[in-house]
Amino acid sequence: MNKVLAYFKNKSDFAFSQEIMVYGYEFNYPYLLVSSVLPYLFDDLKITENIAPENNSNRDGRVRFKKYIVIHDTGDTTKERNAAFWSNVVKTQQYKNKCYDASFQYVVGNDGIYHNIPDDEVAYHAGDGTSVEYKLYDTPVKVQDYAKISIKDGYYYINDENTLLLAPKTDHILTSKDINDNGILITQKDGFYQIGETYFNQTYQKIANRGGNNNGIGIEVCINQTADIYLNYQLTAKLVAKLLDSYQLDIKSIRPHHFFSGKNCPQTLRENHLWDHFLELVQTEYDILQFQKEGYQIQFVPLCDHIAPNGRIKDISKVIYYQIKTIKDGIVETYEYKS
Ligand SMILES: [Zn+2]
Repeated sequence: MNKVLAYFKNKSDFAFSQEIMVYGYEFNYPYLLVSSVLPYLFDDLKITENIAPENNSNRDGRVRFKKYIVIHDTGDTTKERNAAFWSNVVKTQQYKNKCYDASFQYVVGNDGIYHNIPDDEVAYHAGDGTSVEYKLYDTPVKVQDYAKISIKDGYYYINDENTLLLAPKTDHILTSKDINDNGILITQKDGFYQIGETYFNQTYQKIANRGGNNNGIGIEVCINQTADIYLNYQLTAKLVAKLLDSYQLDIKSIRPHHFFSGKNCPQTLRENHLWDHFLELVQTEYDILQFQKEGYQIQFVPLCDHIAPNGRIKDISKVIYYQIKTIKDGIVETYEYKS
């Protein structure tokens, strides 16, 4: 068995379903999330270009280096609010008879992936403003097995050692409890920790990280009622994997909107504890993309009628059978899977 077929075999007991709640600003709805047969969507990445005009006020135009992929959901459960809808809101700047000032690079729904703002430009989605860039500060704290950040007497500490870097200030004294749920950016350089640029977000009353609007590529995931929500997560994972590959970013570059502002976004992924699962989808899409770049063609063949040609499961209660076929250098190999 070649490494591609073995890779899928390792993941062949993946299928699951989970009752979740989908959260919207108009209403919430309960939903049975059903996975695909594998954490990989057997379909090509298709992107519809729908770039906002250069004279739009939500198209900043400034070009910045990109360090992050920023994941959102639309928070919009209304049936008709799919990707085309939100893409056109950005493009026309018209929403509920008001000028729409926000923007994001992509929006993903069952109706496709729409591209609104060029990847290398600034967009308005992360809530961290555009005045301060992604930046790292050196600390005198040596790299250890783990890094736990806290705030004492106004300074950031890592593993109880003073970094000599001041935490943000506001009208009251900030403590570790004021840090957003996803923490502060910590990286390593020459055996020492570095800390990213942070600020206090007045709207959400949280210490958060800079670099979302300037140095992120913003992606909105649709959660509209009647949509196949899992398909949206898989389409997003495929897009993110491609962006990681294109811009030579690693999996740590993927951050939820919350990390940059303290907002509860993407709320449905957060509240249903699906963030790590989403990262697993991205990692799998990324790994398969690397196999494809090595020259493997990969085909999925359903061997029962309750799975779709892209690997989506139509009936989770039944046993699933499928075949995966690889072609490389004229050599065809197949393997049959059951779960
Ligand atoms: Zn968001």
